[in-house]
Amino acid sequence: MMDQFLSNLQIVTYRCSGDQQRRVQEISENIKALTGYQDPYFTSGIPSDLDSIIHPDDQSKIRQAIRAYLQKPTPFTLEYRIIGADGGVRWVLDQGLCKADGSGGGMEIEGILIDVTEKNEQDLRRKVWQAACRVEADQFEAILDHIPGMIYYKDRDNRFIRVNKAMADQHGLAKAALEGQHLSAIYPLELVERYYQDDLAVLESGEPRLNIVEKLITQEGLRWVDTSKLAFRDHAGEIIGVIGMSFDITDRIEAEKKVKVLQKAIEQSPIMIVITDPDGTITYVNNTFEAVTGYSRDEALGQNPRILKLNRDVAIDYQKLWETILGGQDWQGIFQNRKKNGQPYWEQAIIAPIFDDEGQLYKFIGIKQDITEEYHNLQLLARLYQEDVLTQVYNRRSFFEQMGRNAIRYQTEAVKWAMLMLDIDLFKRINDSYGHAVGDQALWGFAEICKKNVRKTDLIGRIGGEEFAICLEHTDFEEALQMAKRLRESVAASELRLDNETVIKYTVSIGLSLPRTADEPFEEVLKRADTAMYSAKNKGRNRVEISL
Ligand code: GH3
Ligand code: MG
Ligand code: MG
Repeated sequence: MMDQFLSNLQIVTYRCSGDQQRRVQEISENIKALTGYQDPYFTSGIPSDLDSIIHPDDQSKIRQAIRAYLQKPTPFTLEYRIIGADGGVRWVLDQGLCKADGSGGGMEIEGILIDVTEKNEQDLRRKVWQAACRVEADQFEAILDHIPGMIYYKDRDNRFIRVNKAMADQHGLAKAALEGQHLSAIYPLELVERYYQDDLAVLESGEPRLNIVEKLITQEGLRWVDTSKLAFRDHAGEIIGVIGMSFDITDRIEAEKKVKVLQKAIEQSPIMIVITDPDGTITYVNNTFEAVTGYSRDEALGQNPRILKLNRDVAIDYQKLWETILGGQDWQGIFQNRKKNGQPYWEQAIIAPIFDDEGQLYKFIGIKQDITEEYHNLQLLARLYQEDVLTQVYNRRSFFEQMGRNAIRYQTEAVKWAMLMLDIDLFKRINDSYGHAVGDQALWGFAEICKKNVRKTDLIGRIGGEEFAICLEHTDFEEALQMAKRLRESVAASELRLDNETVIKYTVSIGLSLPRTADEPFEEVLKRADTAMYSAKNKGRNRVEISL
């Protein structure tokens, strides 16, 4: 049974002389399949040496190793290339034991050769072989029982002949109870038939069937397994059954399912998702990205997110951004970006680095949202917060805030400035005669006149109901006085036309003050302008009065 098993796995057993040449004394038939050499080379009766088939590049290394093992008889495992009869190169695993020969004094080596050329693709098989070959044949079964995967041998009649422990455990049976059982005694007919289809393919073709993902009913319920099946041959090469190996991959399948759900969620998310390589090359974008930016997936893949960059300076500290994400932290911020059609949009973004199991930077993931509307609303709010709604000049609070900042600059930069206080004359009358709405119109018109008459750098604030303050920058007394007079005249010359018959005229009283010292608080200057304005009222209105 074990011989057959080894033969099916194409293992070569050998016995040879205890020197670096390793002259062959006995070698199994499988050497022909391994090397391609036929009679008289490497066949019983005409010994040759193992050394001669080793690839020249590996030869000296192997000779040296064999010499060392002969010094101190121990089991060894070597892996090297051999050159076959057709000149082809194959990798073999050579596992042997150096020991004293029967005749006394001399050494000999007994071992096995396994073709591991396809070990990478067939790593699983190799592991089984390696484990199996490392020990004497009677321990082989014990090894198989320690392999977590299920291993079984079925005959042509669909009957389990041998199974390992994992196989028996999965079915909640002792090995002996499973061995000899027909599959139909264990599985529902539908499964028996499905399994048998694969077996039949192997039995008929002799070719292995690898990595079949299938369901298995076990003690723990339904499990997913990855099954590979090989033809099992007797000494004569007749296929007498199927060797199967099944590994439980339920966890992997479950994980894949979870990934699929997440993938769907990302795909359909109303948030833009962009994934890039560490160098910034886009490797994934979701549907929302396509919809918002106008770039199709095909257009975006392989590009850098820079395609969205608007050539305008936005307050993004890119150095900080890179420091943050390369340091393993998420970065958050707002970009002003551009769609494919050139339209700018505001984008709230989180950029997160993803590291692989070895701690290497693997991907960046960008979670982005078009917040253009919210951004504009915010800007509007901020403006409303600062502005007087009716006249769209600074409201009282923001005028004082702005003046606070200006005053510091005026002092440090020695800027000359002046303050005007303006109060519309007899405004109550307008309200009383024509109503509050007309009063509002007059107020709006008054503010427009102020705006037209000052420069962009001058600051206008609505301080009270129909009281305004104007701070004039880079202005000396003469200029400020001219400005105040011009304002007064413009107001007096203006008229508010309600309809053809009704024309409303009004005037304004203005107080003018200049800071007495560079460090005089602006509130003081404002107060003196107010006092001057009141004296203009007292002196008959429609005047400019001065406080120096
Ligand atoms: P004076 O020449 O002494 O300044 O006389 P006046 O009537 O203008 O008196 P005062 O400045 O004390 O009165 C301001 C009036 O402005 C009182 C209030 O009814 C009116 N007012 C204040 N805010 C508004 C507003 O937003 N809209 C309108 N329509 N009227 C306002
Ligand atoms: Mg007034
Ligand atoms: Mg007033």
